[in-house]
Amino acid sequence: MKSLLFKAAALVLALTLPAHAQKASSAKFSGQAAYDLTKQYIAAAPHRWIGSPDHTKAEEFIRSHFTVEAAKGNFETDSFSASTPAGQLAMKNFIVRYPGKKDGVIVLATHYETNYPLRDIGFVGANDGGATTALLIELGNYLRAHPPEGYSVWLVFDDGEEAIQSWSDRDSLYGTRHLAAKWSQDGTIKKIKAFLVTDMIGDKDLNIDRDSNSTPWLLDLLATAAKNTGHTAYVFKNDTAVMDDHLPFRQRGVPVLDVIDLDYGPPTREHPEGGYHHTELDTLDKVSAHSLQISGDLLVEMIRLINQH
Ligand SMILES: [Zn+2]
Repeated sequence: MKSLLFKAAALVLALTLPAHAQKASSAKFSGQAAYDLTKQYIAAAPHRWIGSPDHTKAEEFIRSHFTVEAAKGNFETDSFSASTPAGQLAMKNFIVRYPGKKDGVIVLATHYETNYPLRDIGFVGANDGGATTALLIELGNYLRAHPPEGYSVWLVFDDGEEAIQSWSDRDSLYGTRHLAAKWSQDGTIKKIKAFLVTDMIGDKDLNIDRDSNSTPWLLDLLATAAKNTGHTAYVFKNDTAVMDDHLPFRQRGVPVLDVIDLDYGPPTREHPEGGYHHTELDTLDKVSAHSLQISGDLLVEMIRLINQH
């Protein structure tokens, strides 16, 4: 992910609602379970850059949590080869499907690999790729217990979000560019009602940004979801324009939302958006079960609201 601009203290909606705003109905998503999964994931596959042995372990970790869906034919491995500055690299996206009762699909995505250029510094990406992989696995647990009543919900664990060398249109977003092109060709893209990206939202100090590259009605819905779940204090303090996995779908006219918290750690000269981002300091102690609970609550409520839209 890359930030185009960063405006602190944004002129955003006056989110001054009381903390006793109504709770989402019977959300049993567990932030603690998502945190425990984050811990297990980065222990099982700490340095999961593309081509590494840990990347294979990351694939196995994800696959092992969806055996129920796999038995129903609802787990897909999307293998492809990408041309990168480091040559031709094999990558894999995973798609998990929870069929609904209404025509149309809501997609929730996260990248699961670690940053390739940081492969020599022991980077584990606890928040960047780790926590959201765990978040979507736990959301899968929730959806297994509460199958969608409306639109189908698909989870996407995408590969190659990070640049292999340095960020450009050609060197980034490999997995989602591949998937958007593939789903355009086979017609799947027409069924997508909303494509939501989750990124860096396990941050202990959670501030979900208002990303101007996201679709306005979905940003409005996120504000409503925050109000309905009592989490207004955690959204839209900052305005950003983020280049992330939502862009390949946005370019094809799909409504998109990047649920991202860019300011991660105290700002430094090298990392004005936060000193933990893309450094060896992105470790489990910067992630919390509380933040994952908030993020999970928001996603569950977003699914409900998108169905009403
Ligand atoms: Zn990153």
